[in-house]
Amino acid sequence: MRIARPKGTRDFEPEEMRARRWLEGFLRERFRSYGYEEVLTPTFEHARLFEEKSGEEILEEMYVFEDKKGRRLALRPEMTAPVVRMYNDSLKTRPHPLKLCYFVNCFRYEQPQRGRWREFWQAGVEILGSSEPEADVEVIELTHGIFDDLLPSDAFETRVGHLGILRGLLEEHGIGEERQNRVAHLVDKGELEGVRELLPEDVTERVLGIVTAESVSEVEEAIAGAEPAEEALENLLTISDQLKEAGVEHELDFSVARGLDYYTGMVFEVHVPELGGGSQCAGGGRYDTLVRDLGGPDVPAVGMAIGFDRLLMALELYDRVPGEELEGTRALLIPLTRSGKVWEVARELRELGWIVDVEVSGKSLRKALSMADSKGYDYAVIVGDRELEGGYVSVKNLETGEQEEVPLNELERAAEV
Ligand code: ATP
Ligand code: MG
Repeated sequence: MRIARPKGTRDFEPEEMRARRWLEGFLRERFRSYGYEEVLTPTFEHARLFEEKSGEEILEEMYVFEDKKGRRLALRPEMTAPVVRMYNDSLKTRPHPLKLCYFVNCFRYEQPQRGRWREFWQAGVEILGSSEPEADVEVIELTHGIFDDLLPSDAFETRVGHLGILRGLLEEHGIGEERQNRVAHLVDKGELEGVRELLPEDVTERVLGIVTAESVSEVEEAIAGAEPAEEALENLLTISDQLKEAGVEHELDFSVARGLDYYTGMVFEVHVPELGGGSQCAGGGRYDTLVRDLGGPDVPAVGMAIGFDRLLMALELYDRVPGEELEGTRALLIPLTRSGKVWEVARELRELGWIVDVEVSGKSLRKALSMADSKGYDYAVIVGDRELEGGYVSVKNLETGEQEEVPLNELERAAEV
């Protein structure tokens, strides 16, 4: 009976897995070079962890199930809430700020399409314990640097906004957090008409003034007199100026709102427009109340997540995935005997740094040689009873066709054939 793969999931064949491991290694090394330390949390958590603060969109997409004791659990749809949960459980006494990174699979029950799967991977960072603009700048600079080193500089766009502007204005009009979140969702989705139904007309006009603003002065006009919003704009400009000086190309975009409820300040996204529909390859921002909302101390934080699969798609689109690098000497060891000595020879060659693939299907010498050829191996090492009795193995260089007998106690000479 054949059973299909669940909808929205993927298998990764060896070639693709090689590309994925390469990119994963690149990202890990980059995070490490900035002093971020990797953490890992469970694949599933209590559903409440995400229901608390992640927001409507993610709740609709969440995989929720009951375990045998009736506990409501969820596959993680994202990693910020689990990292904060872990922080509150066991990390909060460490020296601050804490710089953490992760590389994990996430699960969302979405309509599968190009660039959108039900299981996908995120690589991200979180800084816990700084409210300074430098923390925001570092997260954007780090993210931008990754895209800049991997893609042509005109292939991606970094858009930076600030939710404090919108929240500050709404607060000034006495609009509570829940309605703020609903407005932010609509803005995130570009559904500006929906905003009208949620807010009085004068407030709607001011909100639209912010999110459609093309310049700072237009925003200033829309928020004039709303002090918290003015402070937020000030904060955004401080971050933006520092980014400019650091050579981080970006644009201010007052419509960036993000789909997660916990953002409170700077928010940003990296887009690769050529990808079309799912062009957002990374997103992040400041979340100064989440740690406290999840039962921890009052600790400000900022972070980001890269959509690993989409970043890889972008690299493929721009032909930026390095070709297969075959490292080391590769050999097929062809046993023409049942002697266990075969394994000793393989072990010794591996200790010399060779990649040794032992032929285990009883192929004839001719067929085995032809397979070694088609796999692109450098050598065939033939071990038969005759060889073992004589105290040697036959080593065939598959490029030159030359074959020599190499004594068992001098296997390092095999590389000279
Ligand atoms: P989108 O607007 O595309 O749904 P999002 O706002 O839901 O994205 P985030 O929650 O910010 O995305 O997740 C961070 C990154 O993870 C995104 O920038 C995106 O690259 C990637 N991502 C999100 N959902 C998926 C998915 N279903 N499949 C593949 N990648 C995803
Ligand atoms: Mg989404």
